Amino acid sequence: MSIRVRNPLVEIDGDEMTRILWRLVKERLLLPYLDMQTIYYDLHVEHRDETDDHVTVEAAQAIAEHGVGVKCATITPNAARVEEYDLKRAWPSANATIRGILDGTVFRQPIVLKNIPPTVRTWAKPIIIGRHAYGDVYENQEIRVPGPGTGELVYTPANGGESIRRTIHVFSGKGGVLQGIHNTEESVRSFARACIQYAISQRVPLWFATKDTISKTYHGFFRDVFQEEVDAHRAEMEAAGVTYFYTLIDDAVARVIRHEGGILWACANYDGDVMSDMLASGFGSLALMTSVLVSPSGVMEFEAAHGTVQRHYYAHLRGEPTSTNATATIYAWTGALARRGELDVTPDVVDFCQRLERAVVETIEGGIMTKDLARVCDPPVEEAASTEGFIDAIRARLDA
Ligand code: NAP
Ligand code: MG
Repeated sequence: MSIRVRNPLVEIDGDEMTRILWRLVKERLLLPYLDMQTIYYDLHVEHRDETDDHVTVEAAQAIAEHGVGVKCATITPNAARVEEYDLKRAWPSANATIRGILDGTVFRQPIVLKNIPPTVRTWAKPIIIGRHAYGDVYENQEIRVPGPGTGELVYTPANGGESIRRTIHVFSGKGGVLQGIHNTEESVRSFARACIQYAISQRVPLWFATKDTISKTYHGFFRDVFQEEVDAHRAEMEAAGVTYFYTLIDDAVARVIRHEGGILWACANYDGDVMSDMLASGFGSLALMTSVLVSPSGVMEFEAAHGTVQRHYYAHLRGEPTSTNATATIYAWTGALARRGELDVTPDVVDFCQRLERAVVETIEGGIMTKDLARVCDPPVEEAASTEGFIDAIRARLDA
């Protein structure tokens, strides 16, 4: 008897090894149990090329319309990929396009397992990172200053008022470098709101940190906007038992490294870029890192944090056995389906997602896992499961 998912989910297919995982997960772990409709978009790099990347825009618009999406990893074309797939051009990152359209914040959360010890002993619960994915050094302007002269920061008002000028540095000798960065009030505010909403949905404390002792205006602005949003949402946060903690970024880093976890750490763009990689590796494997894009209006897109696992795909094409971990891909589906179930008020769908996640956890904790985890497992395991063997073991547990 299958469980009915009331409203459709936007499904975004992708590339290489994760495209293979995608089909296996659907055929063996979802379709035998669920009666579900998806609105399907194929973001295979060749299809993005054929449609001049319009398919990516259409997929993002469909997520905005239907509220929930699930995405497979996709190739971000570089020069090598343009040649490999004979593409018209190096299309932009599909994730960046979707993020831009949904105006979303990305939250990354590791799956914590008893037999996969984190590198940091105290990390007993997941540390979730919310990365502000707009502006700062990622949308900068830079100058290599060739010699003596004055570097200035200038703002010219659109309505013809008086300009504001600051001297950054008067260069002498061999010159040096200059950089200009920005952020916008709208973006910082919607980042703060997305973090507050996500902390409430996960019922975890919210942390935020900047370097406002040094950058009194730029970083101070982030601190103040966050505080205003927290004040505006205080009742909702209190009802969910969510606290807010603001500190200096150095202090936050020092605390996280000896914390037990179970927090949402809101990070400015660069901090989130760097810290999310540190946490992913510290928690055991990229294949245990889940990722969700949350828009300020509550639209969500779920995916695995890792890429298309190109090296494994080439081994697969050569006919060699593979041991690719489907965990984060399965969690992308359970995350999206559970969100769909919440919105549709279909508790049986939410319950199925919890059972499937439990089956994954019990399979790995029971000693059946792919090579990436077998390498770091404690106690050690003799033999790693194949890509398909791992999925079939999860299915056996789900049926038991
Ligand atoms: P990757 O796909 O994340 O894989 C890097 C390495 O991490 C793999 O070679 C593998 O290590 C290990 N790994 C990652 N996921 C694994 C899994 N599920 N099971 C087992 N091991 C796993 O990164 P990449 O190879 O640098 O990138 C490949 C393509 O993915 C690129 O074209 C890039 O543009 C794209 N990408 C897409 C996204 C996205 O769509 N969200 C994100 C990142 C990258 P070993 O080889 O040591 O086994
Ligand atoms: Mg990074």
